[in-house]
Amino acid sequence: MSTATSTDTSTATSTYPLSFALTPSTDARAEAERDEILADPGFGKHFTDHMVTIDWTVDQGWHDARVTPYGPLQLDPASSVLHYGQEIFEGLKAYRHADGSIWTFRPEKNAERMQRSAARLALPQLSVEDFVQSIKQMIAVDGDWVPSAPETSLYLRPFMIANESFLGVRAAHRVGYYVIASPAGAYFADGVAPVKIWLSTDYSRAGRGGTGAAKCGGNYAASLLPQMQAYDNGCAQVLFLDGETGTHIDELGGMNVFFVHGTDTLVTPRLTGSILEGVTRDSIMQLARDRGMTVEEREVTVDEWRDGIASGEITEVFACGTAAVVTPIGQLKGKGFEIGEADAPAGAITLALRQELTDIQYGRLPDRHGWLTRLDA
Ligand SMILES: *Cc1c(COP(=O)(O)O)cnc(C)c1O
Repeated sequence: MSTATSTDTSTATSTYPLSFALTPSTDARAEAERDEILADPGFGKHFTDHMVTIDWTVDQGWHDARVTPYGPLQLDPASSVLHYGQEIFEGLKAYRHADGSIWTFRPEKNAERMQRSAARLALPQLSVEDFVQSIKQMIAVDGDWVPSAPETSLYLRPFMIANESFLGVRAAHRVGYYVIASPAGAYFADGVAPVKIWLSTDYSRAGRGGTGAAKCGGNYAASLLPQMQAYDNGCAQVLFLDGETGTHIDELGGMNVFFVHGTDTLVTPRLTGSILEGVTRDSIMQLARDRGMTVEEREVTVDEWRDGIASGEITEVFACGTAAVVTPIGQLKGKGFEIGEADAPAGAITLALRQELTDIQYGRLPDRHGWLTRLDA
């Protein structure tokens, strides 16, 4: 039994492995319908037949873990998440290997990050073991939804919401953890193409002491208006500067950013507390070190970007995250300036790192760092 209270959520970790009750769906999609969806899944549009739910209360801790048919949540209109945004989420993928087996990538990293996000949002922490188990439970019922075409996957979305019916402002005493899953097509169906990104100087996504390092919906809500400005300026994504000085680079709305200097140095903004610590970011740094590259985590200013492109010192720029893996950045646009060539081809190091990472994820290269966890056995 958890001894957690609303003021000490750090102790609210379940202390035993939960067991999951299964209620199979009675109207699961037929194989033909599923195959039709998996032939062209897009991203985030279709969901599998089941979902995971685990309840948490101050008195009981985590309890009532279950797999049920996918369907709407019933929330009281006073549910606190709807008013104060106490919510966090995660994103990871299940990959089908050539032999049909199903694997995921560094899930304990996502579990630990969700614990850190929970701590910041005053939500209870789910143990790493229960997090990984919740993913395995999804695959046990909906493993057939993991597509097998190249570069496709089943995107897994764990999330946690405050669902106490109470309008007072404090950490909720009732919380729900859920996992839903959505088949994902190849992000770059026509080859990995560089994107233009928009530098937001009007808005920040995070400030000092804020929630920038937590994976929470509120950060995304704050990024949507600048994201619209990016679209209006012909850009695919928005890049944010640090909230304090507005001079150095934090990250994109949902991806971390890297710079290749020459042929042997990789530079990325250091974790300042307002940057989300990406699992892809960490993995790319490891793969770069394995290649003998020097990896620097430090401040990067917009001026350094501009001067580095002009002098040829910066040879490649890319963004990374679970959904798109690695996205080359051709051009940075802002009010009254452009840095880089919009139609420049993707860089060789960018493409090589992307290839190596996906080769490991899909079992085409040996898993030399022990990053993969089998989900279907
Ligand atoms: C999820 C996320 C990332 C990327 O993290 P990965 O673990 O690599 O998927 C980067 N920035 C933000 C703001 C994010 O929410």
